[in-house]
Amino acid sequence: MPNCIFCDIAAKATGAQIVYEDDSVVAFRDLRPAAPGHALVIPKKHLEGIRDATAADEALLGRILLAAIRVAELLGLSERGYRLVMNQGPDAGQSVFHLHCHVIGGRRLAWPPG
Ligand code: AMP
Repeated sequence: MPNCIFCDIAAKATGAQIVYEDDSVVAFRDLRPAAPGHALVIPKKHLEGIRDATAADEALLGRILLAAIRVAELLGLSERGYRLVMNQGPDAGQSVFHLHCHVIGGRRLAWPPG
């Protein structure tokens, strides 16, 4: 996928602070963390957002969530809790159009989100 920063990170063509990787996903620290613990889990396969996932991606979606659980553990967020977020489209404020799951924690998070 041309001009996709997250594809570049997955391909190691762009640097990132990678915290977890397996054959389907990569997780790395968010460049502008919204909390002390903030990482992004992305599929290596390019999908613009959750809306573009189909039944063929069923296993991949499971891998993303399982990786997010693992990443939360690695970041030390499991005991106190954390939030998993997937922003889809303009109203949600999606700014990078490669599916990603935010793993956010390390402080008390407000609800509902802004
Ligand atoms: P979203 O607004 O849900 O699309 O989230 C995109 C996230 O990607 C934001 O939290 C950005 O800070 C983060 N981000 C953008 N570029 C990079 C990058 N090169 N490395 C790490 N995080 C990034």
